[in-house]
Amino acid sequence: MKQSKTLIPTLKETPADADIASHKWLLRAGYIRQNASGVYSFLPLGKRVLQKIEAIIREEMAKVSANEILMPALQSADLWKESGRWDKMGPELMRLNDRHEREFVLGATHEEVVTSMIRDEVKSYKKLPLTLYQIQTKFRDERRPRFGLLRGREFIMKDAYSFHESFESLDESYQDMFQAYTNVFTRLGLNFRPVIADSGAIGGKGTHEFMALSDVGEDTIAFSDSSNYAANVEMAAVLDQYPASNEEPKELTKVSTPNQKNMQEVADFFGHSLDEGIKALLFHVDDRYILTVTRGDHEVNEIKLKNLCEAESVELATEAESKEIIGAGFGSLGPIGTPEKVEVMADHAVKYLVNATCGANEDGFHYTNVNPERDFPNTKYADIRFIQEGDLSPDGEGKIKFAKGIEVGQVFKLGKLYAEKLGADFLNDQGKATTMVMGCYGIGVSRTLASIVEQYHDDNGITWPKQVAPFQVHLLVLNSKKEDQTLLADAIYKKLLAEGIEVLYDDRAERAGVKFADSDLIGIPQRITVGKRASEGFVECKVRETGEQTECHESEVISYLK
Ligand code: ATP
Ligand code: MG
Ligand code: MG
Ligand code: MG
Repeated sequence: MKQSKTLIPTLKETPADADIASHKWLLRAGYIRQNASGVYSFLPLGKRVLQKIEAIIREEMAKVSANEILMPALQSADLWKESGRWDKMGPELMRLNDRHEREFVLGATHEEVVTSMIRDEVKSYKKLPLTLYQIQTKFRDERRPRFGLLRGREFIMKDAYSFHESFESLDESYQDMFQAYTNVFTRLGLNFRPVIADSGAIGGKGTHEFMALSDVGEDTIAFSDSSNYAANVEMAAVLDQYPASNEEPKELTKVSTPNQKNMQEVADFFGHSLDEGIKALLFHVDDRYILTVTRGDHEVNEIKLKNLCEAESVELATEAESKEIIGAGFGSLGPIGTPEKVEVMADHAVKYLVNATCGANEDGFHYTNVNPERDFPNTKYADIRFIQEGDLSPDGEGKIKFAKGIEVGQVFKLGKLYAEKLGADFLNDQGKATTMVMGCYGIGVSRTLASIVEQYHDDNGITWPKQVAPFQVHLLVLNSKKEDQTLLADAIYKKLLAEGIEVLYDDRAERAGVKFADSDLIGIPQRITVGKRASEGFVECKVRETGEQTECHESEVISYLK
């Protein structure tokens, strides 16, 4: 591609709202442009990188027999009402009416659409298991769209859905998909960890998030370099004590709605307004008790709380318990007990766990401040403790450390939740109608693109790994008025094209300084500069990432690149 014929609007200055590296460099290097808050266009370079990422995803999906489809972004509200998410998703769901005032949504994800389709099309166990996926635009009216592509309101997701006759079959596909995700993120060059994650109040049998390590990540993970253990800190506290049950998850039981007056008291106590979103709730899900204390826009908890308001059993922490809560900056705590532990909740665990979170800062979780023996000497369960930095990992293989992560993907054993709600039955090998078991698996494609930039940039711009770079070679002609230079550059351009090497040719009538600066910004892995020694057939070859330079003769260029 000739640079004179494409659109790469590089910027000298960093736009004011671009406060993280990926947002800044993708704007400055002309990959994306913002249209509205959280809504972006991908310009030619951005689109090429997306395609590279998508190609890797498609290859790995094919290896696990996942079939690509394309479902509508525009979806009838009826399906969402059937699943219950019309109410549960709240303002994050983009809703609209057609000219006849019929209600629609712009898909935030596609469990409803895919489950209703499979309900109608798959009637026999002989068709199962079946895995379908798509790469498509998703819409979520995020409360705080920010960080460029990392948290958009319109973004690109690869979403896959698997359908099974049994939980055993789901477990197999889950393992396959876990491996496929590991392959995808490894091939993309990301430094990432799959972590044990919270399946939230809606239940589910198990879930992992794939976290790209980055200081701008909104999640905190506990992991160890010398062991396979890694967990979202939301879960790290409790997993060892209460390993996830292998039972099929049940739905929430008993109903009561959080009471505004109690919430106000809790909020007053913290010195926060309800608008700020301070919430402290103890609730009962299946055979577990969960305490959620949240402030600000901790979205995971928001979703839990929304689910909760309609759930059958919601008990607020009492005023007395709330009084135990000192300080602010809370996060959430995952499942903390089985029925036998109810007493603990009532007597000590609430206080203990709530106090434990007082060590948390606004950025995340740092359980630093509580010493169970010291603070709760009479507590029978003083041995319940959170994983801390420096602890031995649960498998005993290494020391725990904390890091920030960007959630680039998630795999989830959904179980029968959607299949039951939407009536997705099949006839099993005994001819008996049975509810399907499902898994769902997402990759944030556009978020992944930005995460790569978070990990691959320097002070001058992006330093793409070659498997996702928009082009492999950036060919520069330094002075396009000099005939020897343009002749040689044209010849090399043709040669590269003939070899099937993806090349961006900066043939513009710009100054050398501008070309070099743009080239560094854009971040193509190899640069070939045709300049002063063109008449002798010599060019300069430079590796973007390392800065390593060599002069080579034009006749050696191809072999140098290979
Ligand atoms: P988050 O916790 O960051 O809000 P999520 O858990 O709500 O993400 P999922 O429902 O698991 O997201 O969606 C699958 C994937 O889609 C996520 O792992 C993430 O990579 C991506 N994703 C989710 N929300 C956004 C967004 N607003 N912008 C860009 N990518 C997103
Ligand atoms: Mg979200
Ligand atoms: Mg999440
Ligand atoms: Mg997720």
